[in-house]
Amino acid sequence: MNQFKQQRERMVARDLAGRGIHDEAVLDAFRAVPREEFVAEDYAHLAYQDSPLPIENGQTISQPYIVALMTEALELKPDDRVLEIGTGSGYAAAILAEIAQDVYTIERHKTLADTARSRLKKLGYNNVHVLQGDGTLGWPEQAPFDAIVVTAGGPDVPQNLKQQLAIGGRLVIPVGKSLQTQELLRVRRVSENETIEEDLGAVRFVPLVGEQGWADESAILPSK
Ligand code: SAH
Repeated sequence: MNQFKQQRERMVARDLAGRGIHDEAVLDAFRAVPREEFVAEDYAHLAYQDSPLPIENGQTISQPYIVALMTEALELKPDDRVLEIGTGSGYAAAILAEIAQDVYTIERHKTLADTARSRLKKLGYNNVHVLQGDGTLGWPEQAPFDAIVVTAGGPDVPQNLKQQLAIGGRLVIPVGKSLQTQELLRVRRVSENETIEEDLGAVRFVPLVGEQGWADESAILPSK
């Protein structure tokens, strides 16, 4: 236990603060969330390496530095309501829940959604709400959101997600026409009909599969 806490502190200092993450609320969130609880036991000893790790359904828990970069880019405030697309292990949802008021998170794979839901509950994250479904459609019943983060890469910015942003809201999403690499975009809704887009750099994510994402996983991934 203590050993994980030490590793966590070291990761925050070396891989996050040391690589330019400044937001203290973000750094504190990473100091608080036990990443080892979000991976299979076999991977727990690797939990504080700054790298993605495999989870069920052929997906990955994202690299901590990238989660930090995206979380910082969301410019979260304590009373914000956040939507995450791609719950995966639930790790990023827990990070978001440390900073913001409520986190709504959508995962297309039932096994992952169910596992993340019970894991987050067990860890006491009562402000995280997990839904199984196609996140490219957003969560209209809970919109608008102050911040939306997509943790899988799609070909375009889903229109539904833009529409579910509050005025002043920020959407952070990896977008790329190829599956190999994406650009991390921040879309800021500045008025009813106006958004501003910034490119935050190249990243690599698993595919966003859905109505407003890639059509069919079997067509884009090597067969398993
Ligand atoms: N945030 C996660 C990273 C998971 S990887 C974590 O911290 O562990 C991205 C996840 O997006 C995968 O679990 C994948 O199944 C999911 N995903 C892909 N397309 C989706 C969609 N349209 N709706 C919801 N989830 C989707």
